[in-house]
This record gives sequence, structure tokens and C-alpha cells, in this order.
Amino acid sequence: MISRNLYISEKEQTFKHEVLMYGAGTQSTGLLLMALNGEFETKPDVAIFADTGGEPKHVINYKNYFTEYVKKEFDFNIITVQYKNLETEIKEYLKGNRKRVSCIPLRSKTGLLMRQCTKDYKINPADKKIKELYKIKRKNKEQENLIGTWLGISIDEMYRMKKSLDWWKVFIYPLIEKGFKREDTINYVKRFGLKEPPRSACYFCPFHSNHYWKYLHNKYPNEYKKAIEFDETIRNYKGLNNKMYLHKKTIPLKDVDYNQLDMFDLIDECNGYCGI
Ligand code: SF4
Repeated sequence: MISRNLYISEKEQTFKHEVLMYGAGTQSTGLLLMALNGEFETKPDVAIFADTGGEPKHVINYKNYFTEYVKKEFDFNIITVQYKNLETEIKEYLKGNRKRVSCIPLRSKTGLLMRQCTKDYKINPADKKIKELYKIKRKNKEQENLIGTWLGISIDEMYRMKKSLDWWKVFIYPLIEKGFKREDTINYVKRFGLKEPPRSACYFCPFHSNHYWKYLHNKYPNEYKKAIEFDETIRNYKGLNNKMYLHKKTIPLKDVDYNQLDMFDLIDECNGYCGI
């Protein structure tokens, strides 16, 4: 158990509204269910799911299933927002039909591309909706630290905790405060007879661990096939000299042998907005 006082100041704890960033994955599903069952002192007013357009079909199905469940059982709203379709935009860019596109963290032998996708497709659309809901405009004293933003990061991923850099928003980590691990959230959801939440994130995300790729390969072969096709399209990425890859070994996804790879690698850093 970790006290909130250890990671945010008293002043930051004065937020008046609470919003949960829902990713349709294991931790954020468990977190929201716990909150609605009164496991924390407060509850979020609403949850927001930012659809990048790149989530696998089973993640979208789960989001729809859970959205219906919380509406029926708790009269609680999960709002879906979308900027554009990231998958389509990248494909159109590669065909030469667009001048620019948000960078995803593609890999080459010399390093990673900058990541713009989380900000453009997850954070900004969610922030836009929150600002609209709570009428937040220019910086002002009354709305400083107005929104407590719940992020579904569990204690085994503590290194992903961050402080908000926005004047109106404070990040809070209730799973970490409770000492909950990823498995604990899955077990919690299953206790209520709900389907097990999937691992979420764009199917083509280069941050995926070997463990995730193997999971996709074994459990959702159609999505894995799509990832292989996507991987082939980004090899000679427009405007770049190096060959680009999705897999961290910088080899084509179609050539990865999961029996040969270390399955206990850590995932790369993300900030609780994407499911990774
Ligand atoms: S899951 Fe990966 S590709 Fe998708 S928005 Fe997040 S970082 Fe970008």
C-alpha cells in the first residue's frame, strides 16, 4: 500500500472532479469495477476511452461489452472519443495520399522513432472531452488541479508513474495505492462473473513485448496476421533511410520464432493512456 501523500502534494489533492482513463485492458477495467463497487473513498464521475482506430477487434468488443455492463449495473458512462483512425492514416501516408502523419515508435537498427501517437490519439482527444465537460478554458486559479485523473497502473508497473504537466489535471494511481498487481485486477473482474479483460493497445504497437506478440500470435491469429502485414508496409518508411520494424529484435514479424526468444522481457515505458 502506498499513500497518495507520497506522490502528490496536499495542494494537488484538492481536485474537485475525477475522471478515469479507460483503455479496455486489464488494469483499467479492474480499476473501474473496483471504484464502482466502492473499494476506494471516491469514484470517478465518468470514464473516457480514446479510440486510436488501431485497437484489435477483441479489445473494441470488450470495451463495448464492459460499457454496457457498467451502464446497466451502475448507470455509469464510459465515453468514447476519437481523433482520427491511426491505422488508416499511416497506411494512407505510406501510399503517398497524406503529407504528414503522427509518428509511432517504430524501431530500426539505430533506435526508436519519436512517439507522437499517444499524445495525438489518446491524450489530446481525452483532454478535449474533459475540457468540454468541465468547461476548462484558459489558465485560472479556480480550476487549478481541478481534475483528478485516474490511471490504471498496477504496482508491478510502478515505474510508469508520472506527474501531470497540465495545470488543471493531477494523475492519481489508486491501484498502486491499494498495492494491486495486474493479476489481482484480473481476478477481481472474474469474481463478478465478467469475461477476462484482454491486453489492450494498438495491434501494431512497436512497444509490445515478446510476451504480447506471442499472446496475439496464439490467441488472436487474425490480428497477428494483420500485424505481419502492417510490419511489411513500414519496412521502407517514407522519408527514412533505415529499415523500420515493429519487433524490438528489429527483424520482420513473420520471422519471429517465439520458442527462441526470452519471454520475460519488460515492456517499454508508456504512461497509462495506452494500454501498454
Ligand atoms: S498503443 Fe502504441 S502505437 Fe498505439 S497510440 Fe499507444 S504508443 Fe502509439
